[in-house]
Amino acid sequence: MHRHKEQQGRTGRGAARYGRWRLLTLLLAFLVILVNPLLNYHLGINWLQGWYQSLGVGHLWFVSPLEGLESLLVTRSIAMASFIGMLIPLLLAFLLGRVFCSWICPISFFAELLDHGHRLVYRNKRRQDLLVPARRLLWFVLVGELLLSMILGAPVFVVLSPPGLVGREIMMAVFFHRLPLEGLILLPVLGMELVCRRLFCRCLCPLGGLLALVGSRRRLVVAMEPERCVQCFRCDRNCPLGLRPSRGETLTSYCWNCGACIDACGPAALAFRWQHNGNPSRDNQPPVFSTTML
Ligand code: SF4
Ligand code: SF4
Repeated sequence: MHRHKEQQGRTGRGAARYGRWRLLTLLLAFLVILVNPLLNYHLGINWLQGWYQSLGVGHLWFVSPLEGLESLLVTRSIAMASFIGMLIPLLLAFLLGRVFCSWICPISFFAELLDHGHRLVYRNKRRQDLLVPARRLLWFVLVGELLLSMILGAPVFVVLSPPGLVGREIMMAVFFHRLPLEGLILLPVLGMELVCRRLFCRCLCPLGGLLALVGSRRRLVVAMEPERCVQCFRCDRNCPLGLRPSRGETLTSYCWNCGACIDACGPAALAFRWQHNGNPSRDNQPPVFSTTML
């Protein structure tokens, strides 16, 4: 009885805890790249510049690690400004994993809006994945994209990155009153959502691949208390990446720490946990642990 009450209490506190914060963060991040060009163009306020491929806050510049790496491979030289700009995003991925993808990226924002719209129309029914892609494809896409950039001698993702395109389209619309054609790439990227939740993010985004690789031994993980788990598998059904938190897949490189499985878990068997040893697979293992770290 006592245990039941305790579980109910934890459930009440935990319900939709991260989902709302994640949506708010995604919205604020999107507003940054939406409002920034207007401030630059109409009011001459340039404290904030660029978008998520290269974002300047005052004198501090953040550079997307993939675009920085591409430029390094293509030019075979290290631009110090670009190198320094990559450090904070890389440190973030090293400590927290792929949180840029789940908490900041505009493609994630649009996908979450689609999820919420679907739940409103279909009365809380989750979207089903009609396709289960091979998640290891993510690594092949990352390596293939870097090789292609080296062969072509041009940074491919700088031009064609979907999250980058969102910012660039807004910037071009404000400054030049036109929408570049490459923005059409966003249509199939978002259209894929209808076939499988986060299909592009799961296995086709090279930036996601690089961040997942850097964060493969991240400090922040979703860990399970096996004795609380009642094997309802709600966490599995609610993972937007098709992972199985009930089988320990929160500890793989693929998990992007969105927290959706934590929100879904009634008995609060899942929670974010800070790992001091940087090896999430060592302790607090769930009943069946997947050894698939990559
Ligand atoms: S971790 Fe939670 S949501 Fe997942 S199977 Fe166990 S009790 Fe159910
Ligand atoms: S396992 Fe949990 S935290 Fe990781 S991506 Fe899936 S729902 Fe998000």
